[in-house]
Amino acid sequence: MTVRLEGPGVVVLHNSETKSDDGLNNELTLPGSLRAGIENSLQWEASDEVNVFYHINRIEDWFLKTFEFAYEYAGEREGYNQAQIIAQCNCGPDINGIAGYGSLGFGSQSGRLWARGADVIYHEFGHNAVQPIFGNFIDPVGDPYCEAYAMDEGFADYFACALTNDPQQGEGVSTSPRSLDNTMVYTAGAYALEGYTGGLLISGACWDYRSKFADKTEADQIVFQALNIMSAWPEPYYFSDPSQSNFLSALRIADGGRHADWIDWAFGKHSLPFEEAAPVSPAPKVTSITPAKDQRAYGPTEIVIAFDRPIDELTFAGNIVVEREDYKGRRAITCDFFPDLTTRKKVTIKPRNASEGFAPLGTQTNFYVRLISGTAKAVKGKNGQKLDGDGDGQPGGDYKAKFWIID
Ligand SMILES: [Zn+2]
Repeated sequence: MTVRLEGPGVVVLHNSETKSDDGLNNELTLPGSLRAGIENSLQWEASDEVNVFYHINRIEDWFLKTFEFAYEYAGEREGYNQAQIIAQCNCGPDINGIAGYGSLGFGSQSGRLWARGADVIYHEFGHNAVQPIFGNFIDPVGDPYCEAYAMDEGFADYFACALTNDPQQGEGVSTSPRSLDNTMVYTAGAYALEGYTGGLLISGACWDYRSKFADKTEADQIVFQALNIMSAWPEPYYFSDPSQSNFLSALRIADGGRHADWIDWAFGKHSLPFEEAAPVSPAPKVTSITPAKDQRAYGPTEIVIAFDRPIDELTFAGNIVVEREDYKGRRAITCDFFPDLTTRKKVTIKPRNASEGFAPLGTQTNFYVRLISGTAKAVKGKNGQKLDGDGDGQPGGDYKAKFWIID
């Protein structure tokens, strides 16, 4: 009989074995048998394709149930719905597992049957799952010796091991399986660890943190939430240094102080920093906004926010929200942000679509500018410094300004 492996969340294709993505066909001829008697169900031996189809569906269900996360591919492609992973088997001897951009591939590198490893399939799916969250991989550049790359590998392992509740990753398929239950320690200095090695440090610390929980789902949800929080902050992403570890900051926020001592213990066990560094300089404060706050404006084309001291990547993450309110209701405007590169004390904001931007509609159109600082998904630079949003002299606080146009 012939089976087509396609469902709402995955399509499995079969390749020629010489290319990783030629998607030759997905109509598999399987050695099926119709069982007699009361067991009148079809049975066939597992194939690579059936295994991949089952395990991708399983991890998609697990992400949905555990995190309310439904995978969706962000780009354009013909012939597939956005929720479908395109998985290719028989990708040849150059490939073990590959992932990203809505697809997965499994080959026969080192003579191993990579499509037969549930852990391997889960790991590769994990790479795809972070892409809609971060807008790309955690490390969009692909530098195998940076911390973000290590997090790509480490969290792909973490979620695979969390699903199976087993810290061994890839055993039974790989000749060098990885263990998240490890005692690796970080040696402070210039970070230069290869991705899988660095990945074992951060996944190991998170696995140890998880080990303290009676309810493992709670731990997994906190780790997943930490990645979501971190994704709202600017790149690059780190975990090795107290002044840079935005992952640690995100994990502390997601944890909400409920298990702070478990974070200290787990990170300390791997010699990773667990104390956040104090800000190194005063927080930049808003001094003015144009059009002026609480005034009527006349056909503005842009908004300019000035600060009392230079803002830079250490202190500014660009988390500014501009909304308009007219008779159609209140909604956010998509804007572009242009920092003044000379003084570094100004940011100019322009609507991406002028007609939907600062033009009046109806008798009065209100505009709200909010510079959100100090909240969970807030403005935060890579050294942990926050902007002073509300002008109280302390980092944090929301800055709100309103102006309006009358037609
Ligand atoms: Zn990987």
